[in-house]
Amino acid sequence: MPFFDLYMKTRLENILKVNQLSVTENRKIILELFLSSAGALSHNDIEKKVGQKFDRVTIYRTLHTFLEKGIVHNIPTPDNSIHYALCRDNCSAGYHRDNHIHFVCNVCSNTICLEEVGIPDIRLPKGFTSERIEMLVSGVCKNCKLKAPMWKHRDSWLRL
Ligand SMILES: [Zn+2]
Ligand SMILES: [Zn+2]
Ligand SMILES: [Zn+2]
Repeated sequence: MPFFDLYMKTRLENILKVNQLSVTENRKIILELFLSSAGALSHNDIEKKVGQKFDRVTIYRTLHTFLEKGIVHNIPTPDNSIHYALCRDNCSAGYHRDNHIHFVCNVCSNTICLEEVGIPDIRLPKGFTSERIEMLVSGVCKNCKLKAPMWKHRDSWLRL
């Protein structure tokens, strides 16, 4: 087995074991998608990749289990498609600590966790308790900015 596959297999099985989940084919394959993806995944993205192997219900149930166990968190996006991303903030079963901003790129439509950008404190009026704050920033991601042709950067175009 090549080193990367072995590493991935160990990592996958570890995450499942720590969360007291049995290692099943669907959990392994869907978790592998998250581990090898740079951004968040929507239900549709997952279905496109593993749709031949598992039906919608299996995918839905697997995501639901991961969500409950604190393995992934969900991100509501402006087009109403919920995206899921791997938790890296020591989340545990029933308790998510994903206190970071999410970024949606208008060019590639990737949804990205910006773990290093925390959500600022929001002071609520007396008597209110916050349980969850969502913060979504949209714009152009780093990769798309690098790939954009010269004319898209108005400043450099003006200088030509
Ligand atoms: Zn989480
Ligand atoms: Zn982009
Ligand atoms: Zn996130």
